[in-house]
Formats: sequence, structure tokens, C-alpha cells
Amino acid sequence: MTELNTKTIAELSDLLEKGKCTSVEIVRDVLAAIDGGDAEIGAYLTIDREAALAQAESADVARAAGRTGPLLGIPLAVKDLLNVKGQPCTCSSKILEGYTAPYDATAIARLRAAGAVFLGRVNMDEFAMGSSTENSAFKTTRNPWNTDCVPGGSSGGSAACVAADEAIASLGSDTGGSIRQPAAFCGCVGLKPTYGMISRYGLTAFASSLDQIGPIAKTVKDAAILLEALAGKDEMDSTSVDIDVPEFGKMLTGDHSLSGMKLGLPKEYFVEGMDPEVEKAVRAAVGHCQDLGAEIVDVSLPHAKYAIAVYYIIATAEASANLARFDGIRYGLRMEGADPIELYGKTRAAGFGPEVKRRIILGTYVLSSGYYDAYYLRAQKVRTLIRNDFVEAFKTCDALLAPVTPTPAYKIGEKMNDPLKMYLDDILTTPVNLAGICGLSVPCGFSGSGLPIGLQILGDSFKEENILKVGHAYEQTTDWHTRHPAK
Ligand code: GLN
Repeated sequence: MTELNTKTIAELSDLLEKGKCTSVEIVRDVLAAIDGGDAEIGAYLTIDREAALAQAESADVARAAGRTGPLLGIPLAVKDLLNVKGQPCTCSSKILEGYTAPYDATAIARLRAAGAVFLGRVNMDEFAMGSSTENSAFKTTRNPWNTDCVPGGSSGGSAACVAADEAIASLGSDTGGSIRQPAAFCGCVGLKPTYGMISRYGLTAFASSLDQIGPIAKTVKDAAILLEALAGKDEMDSTSVDIDVPEFGKMLTGDHSLSGMKLGLPKEYFVEGMDPEVEKAVRAAVGHCQDLGAEIVDVSLPHAKYAIAVYYIIATAEASANLARFDGIRYGLRMEGADPIELYGKTRAAGFGPEVKRRIILGTYVLSSGYYDAYYLRAQKVRTLIRNDFVEAFKTCDALLAPVTPTPAYKIGEKMNDPLKMYLDDILTTPVNLAGICGLSVPCGFSGSGLPIGLQILGDSFKEENILKVGHAYEQTTDWHTRHPAK
């Protein structure tokens, strides 16, 4: 069998189950795709060939001994901010160059227990700050649909490797859109789970009240399989919630009817300045869901327009505190100094890139006495209003439909000198993180120039099953997900 790398988790686990391929063969095909294409795409920072092949071999042995499971022997890529024992974890920052993870993040431990294979580390914006992966200190990642364009960010490597068939699926993290936006730019499925659904233990913290780990995959079903393995209470993260994790992987069936579901269309999400091609594709997707039987209703999220301002206060405030630990003493880079203060200063000056510095300065400012009430406290209050809008909408709706981004992917370099323009791109994704709810990005069309467009499906807290159901029904009755970028 050839090109096993182009298949989905569900397809491969079926082939493995039937003895039609081995995990070693899958990993070999994926490694061949990386060797053939990643010099151009630049998704990977490091590839762990021997370890991946050894894990695949163990999975094959376990399967031969009677073990089963949808992730047994499936190779995945990991965003470079999740700790995988023995591998580097740089967060695409010079300050963590040379650092080796001493333990597995809970998300990784759970996938390892399920038999998944870890291929290596993929590129990201430094400390997950950005929307294009251009803030990586190490390399440029390109969009497989058009290599002049960005793959999105901050999980740009995680999306690009899946779109280029250089991994079967991947893990990313989403603080303000970093799973959904690159998934949309690269024509993949991206899931940002409810806050508390997946343990953050071992995820390098950017903004702790917003961060969530989630999958980037080729289909909604694959994302559901990964979510099921990842979700659930963890003693090591007190914000992880003790719920009975539904069998997400099994609940998506051949029934694609949406009848009985009420889907809301937030009017504030069709923003001024939005690319008409994006609006057209998303409105067509809404019509398609209606054809599948859903009732479409208009809803209003009046405070969504404040989301960018609130997000960039809260996220930077939390980042300024979280990043204080990178001081040259405990991790990675150290620049010598005459005393500790000089050592800290020199290390941080040399180790952090410009965007990270900008955010530390902003975050320190909004938390400083005299400005705390005016910015940080006020932002927290507006955050509650943003959340209340969703609570109100979900009283009548099962899910909401919206675009993921105002435009498709843009050219590399286009927004690098204008941080505010870059920040504005997060306008449709940040409200979900501020409210703590879940969101799914599913391919829903292409621009005239051949770039993917994403449909965002928003669900109430711990109602992942609703957004997965809508996403799966939409995906399986359209053919966007079957397209591949030209090689
Ligand atoms: N683009 C947003 C930011 O720069 C979101 C990043 C993220 O979700 N990690 O902060």
C-alpha cells in the first residue's frame, strides 16, 4: 500500500485492524513525505526518526498480541510547547534553546498510553504569540496551499504538517485562536476544547486562563478520536474538570441529519471589512446546514466587539507573569552577568524576540499599580459580559456558526510590521477563549486564488458533542476535506 500518510486516523486504524498495513509502514510513508516536502514547507523543528520507528514497532508488536485502539500506531506531530520527555521544547524561542523536557505533559502521556507515535516537534510563533508563525525564532513555515503565504499561527507548524500529509494529525494550543485559525488557513479541522476539558500540565503557559490544548486533524472524526483520548480530569491541573468523557470517537455516525438542531448566526461575526469570498463561503455553509435540517436563527453577541481589546490586556498580563520564570537560572539560555539582576536582564534581552518583549511590556503595564483598575480589572469585567452574551445565546441555540477569520491566508511578510493589524485578525476567535467555551474550525470552501476558508462552529461549555456533530454532518456531505494541496 502506498501513501499511507495521506489517510486519516479512522482509515488507518481500520487498515491496521484488518492487518492491511503496519504502523512501521505508516511512519515510513510519513517520514518520506517529510523528507520530500518539508524543506519547502518548514513545519518541523526536529524530527525524531529512530524513536518514532521504535514506537511504531512496539505498536505493531502490541497489536499482534491482541491490543486494539484507534490511536495505536498512529504518528502525530507535536507543537513545540508541549513537553515530551527527552525531546527539546523550545516554544520556538532562543531562550529555551538546548532545553530538554524532563517529563511528559499529561496530554502526551495520555496519547502515549493510547499507543500514539510521536514524530517530532513542529514550529510555532514564539511562546504562541502571533497569528502567522512568523514570530518563530528559528524558521519560516509556509502554507502548503500556496508557499508564498503564511500557514497561520501560532500553531502554524501543526496545521501545515497535517495539510502537507507530513503527519496524520497533530496537537496545537489555542489561547486566542491558535488552533482554529491555522486550521482554517491550511484547510484542516481544528478543535479548541472547552476550558478545563484537557489538562494543561506540561503545556508551556502563555495565558493560563485562556490556554487549551487541542487537535488539528484531517477530519472531524479524527479530531473527536483525539479529544476522547485527551480529555478528562488530571490531578496535576486543578483547572481540569471532572466530567464523564463521552465516547466522542464513536458518536459520529453515518446519520448526517441536523434536524432538531437550532444553530445561531451571530450578526456581529460578519464584520465590516471582511473578505467577500469568506462571507460567501460561510453563508453557503450556513445554507447547507439548513438543508441538512437545522433551524437557523439570528443571535446577537453585543460585547464581542470588545474581545480584541480585552484579550490583549488579559493575555499580555498573564504572559508577563508566566514568562517571568525564564530568567537564565532555571531553563535554557544563560547570559552571564556581574550579579543576578544583570544576568536576568542580559538573558531575557538576548533570549526573547520582539513580539514577546512587546507583550511582556504591555502586560506589566496593565498590571502596574495605578493602571490595574483602568485596564486589567476593567478587562476582566468586560470578559464577563462577553461570556454572558454566549450564555444567553446558548439558552436557545445548540451551536453558533461563524467565519474563523476575516480573510484567507495572506502573504509572508505582509503584516509583520503592523502588529495591530495582526491582532485584529483574531477578532472572530478570541471571544471563544475569553468565554471558555469550545470552537471547531472546518473547511468550507476556497478563495478564487485557491486558499482554504474555514467555518467556525461554536458550542457551549462541555458541549463538544454538538459542534462535532454539526461539523461532521457538514463535512461528510461536502467534499472540501477531500482536497489536497498540489505537491
Ligand atoms: N493570535 C493570538 C495571539 O497572538 C492568539 C495566539 C494563540 O492562540 N496562542 O495572541
